[in-house]
Amino acid sequence: MSIYRNDFDSNEEYTTAVYNAAGITETRTSDGRDAFQVPSSDGSKNYTVSYRGYRGGGDFVNTWECDCPAGQHGRNCKHVKLVVNTTNLICDELGL
Ligand SMILES: [Zn+2]
Repeated sequence: MSIYRNDFDSNEEYTTAVYNAAGITETRTSDGRDAFQVPSSDGSKNYTVSYRGYRGGGDFVNTWECDCPAGQHGRNCKHVKLVVNTTNLICDELGL
């Protein structure tokens, strides 16, 4: 399945379409950060993957958090992986 930027009027519409095709819904955390709803593998619930970017020691630090059991224990989970992979795909396509 391929989704092309040229089929959409704006980067935002393209971005939403790619996330939705991956089963991801864009949302925001209560404190206004970018976040994504990702269904659990059995589809019974959604987990929230959120993004935090900040400057730490002169470097820009990106961290991703997920509220699934693995994510809550600081482990990498497939929900974060899916969001990161999809985000990278979008950034590549948009030349970001
Ligand atoms: Zn997770």
